[in-house]
Amino acid sequence: MGSEEAWHGTQSSRETAAQVQATIHVLIFPFPVQGHITPMLKLAELLSISGMRVTFLSTHDNHRRLLSSACVRARLARRPGLHLRSIPDGLSEDNPRDGSRLLEMIEGLDAATLPLFREILASSGGDGPEGAPPVTCVVADGLILFAVDVAEELGIPIINFRTSSACSFLAYQRIPELCETGIIPFQDGCDLDKLVACVPGMENFLRRRDLPSFCRSNSVDDPYMRFLKGMIRNSTRYRGLVLNTSEFVEFAALTQIRRLVPSTYPIGPLDGLLQTVESLTSAVEGEAGGVPPSKYSTSLWQEDRTCIAWLDASPPSSVVYVSFGSLALLKGEQLLELWHGLVNSGYHFLWVVRPGLVVDGGADGGVPEEVAAGTEERGLLVGWAPQQEVLAHPAVGCFLTHSGWNSTLEGMWAGVPMVCLPYFADQPVNSRFVGEVWRNGADIKDRCDRATVEKAVREVMAGERGPEMRAAAANLSEMVRECVGEGGTSYKNLERLIRDIRAMSLNRNQKVGLHT
Ligand code: UDP
Repeated sequence: MGSEEAWHGTQSSRETAAQVQATIHVLIFPFPVQGHITPMLKLAELLSISGMRVTFLSTHDNHRRLLSSACVRARLARRPGLHLRSIPDGLSEDNPRDGSRLLEMIEGLDAATLPLFREILASSGGDGPEGAPPVTCVVADGLILFAVDVAEELGIPIINFRTSSACSFLAYQRIPELCETGIIPFQDGCDLDKLVACVPGMENFLRRRDLPSFCRSNSVDDPYMRFLKGMIRNSTRYRGLVLNTSEFVEFAALTQIRRLVPSTYPIGPLDGLLQTVESLTSAVEGEAGGVPPSKYSTSLWQEDRTCIAWLDASPPSSVVYVSFGSLALLKGEQLLELWHGLVNSGYHFLWVVRPGLVVDGGADGGVPEEVAAGTEERGLLVGWAPQQEVLAHPAVGCFLTHSGWNSTLEGMWAGVPMVCLPYFADQPVNSRFVGEVWRNGADIKDRCDRATVEKAVREVMAGERGPEMRAAAANLSEMVRECVGEGGTSYKNLERLIRDIRAMSLNRNQKVGLHT
């Protein structure tokens, strides 16, 4: 099937298709943080380009922040079938909604959002004065545990979207077994370098220290553990599983996951896939090509673009880009160690110090004065960067990252080797894969000291293993681009997802999606 037919149907089928499409209404509901909103909004755009009506449900706070971006507004204006709707998140306005507040976010959603979510699904799903057709399919973030209960209760098909990697999904699935066998909680003084035998395909390299951070809990029954066990139990209750990954990057993990959830759709990297589809459909519609990549931003913070001019003035592969994403927190002491490590490496650096990143720093928004002043010689600090544009810039030679899954994929896409210093959740698993499996970087988890940082940065930029890491990064970049190209695996998986959503919507109570 050619691209025109895939996205617009044949001439003769268009009229019938339009009638069918008008009855399909997908509601997409992400967990309300940047790293979940970004890929799920990209999926919302893709489904809307395919002709479905899509409602993207976010919380008031994120809704306001999203719409304050001219770039998001411009994109939404191009998608008449995509509607944004917002509901409260149950938190006070001044709640920082950072990585230390996840439980509060979960509790807030349960208390304030659940009843409204049920109401939206039970009613017409109306989001405008004229109302809207009923929701025929839900794509919900796997972290919103109640979504599957409500959808089941109302007989609406629901698909799980997990925004983490396939490898971390698999590691999470083993948490109940790790608890039952007494490996979790880790005993005082236990050897964190000991291999974990129970995650299929990872027996030879996944250590205790590489497990999701919540495995370091002191109890098998604390609120996080209870939440995770609920999420794991839910995994098989959906009609399918969407992952922002690709067959090439995570083939082994995906093979294991399909034993549990046969209808698994790896459609990543979603940014790249949206670019492909946008350029194909824009061409069909007679427009002058797709939207340029920089216009795909979904940042909740205002991007400081001065860093692009700063990078323009830097030699090729001379800069270390440092970012810890949207949720991580650093102690002032850790920030200082990192800074010394970067300065001692001798390389220039561009560092995102998000407002609130440093929990006990000095003045100037939490950045100790020593760091702010000393950085002028060596680098640039910004509050929030246009990350994908930065990573694509020829001046960037290394990405010092917290190994959030979006950042990991974006680093792969750009072909930039990484130094990984994971903060929490799935990040320790991702960083292990970077260091040991994909080999496109160095994993220095649990070692945030200046000597280790300096050594790792030097190694990636110009050390003995540097060429191997750069070659691996370049190969990954090439392969993930192929996956999202027309006819690539992610492209085909998206077509399959669209077909299955259509079928589910038209046969609400019949199980479909039997392809594996
Ligand atoms: N990001 C950005 N500018 C920044 C820092 C981060 O645009 O200065 C984006 C980054 O491109 C990624 C997201 O924020 O898409 C962070 O998601 P990730 O999964 O890497 O980490 P999380 O924030 O969930 O910990």
